[in-house]
Amino acid sequence: MADTETNVPVCEVVDTLSTGVLVKRRLARMRACNERDAKGKVCAGHLKRWYFFGEEVAGKFGKDAEIYRCENCKTLYLPNGEETPRTGTLSY
Ligand SMILES: [Zn+2]
Repeated sequence: MADTETNVPVCEVVDTLSTGVLVKRRLARMRACNERDAKGKVCAGHLKRWYFFGEEVAGKFGKDAEIYRCENCKTLYLPNGEETPRTGTLSY
């Protein structure tokens, strides 16, 4: 049985909230969730900037944290530190 998705990189799991929600670190330029369900199927849900996290997330990562959430499985993602922030002055 060939698994064509074995090359999908795995995200580092940073934390698990008390609600059981995973908090993972995004890979660079990652836009889709790579969480797998019980059958091993990749979620592939869209990662969207999420502003409505509760006190637990705010306490762990700061109330102004940059948090992304999969719109499908609700897994949370932190930004990848290797990505250049979009804010500020870019030098060429
Ligand atoms: Zn997902």
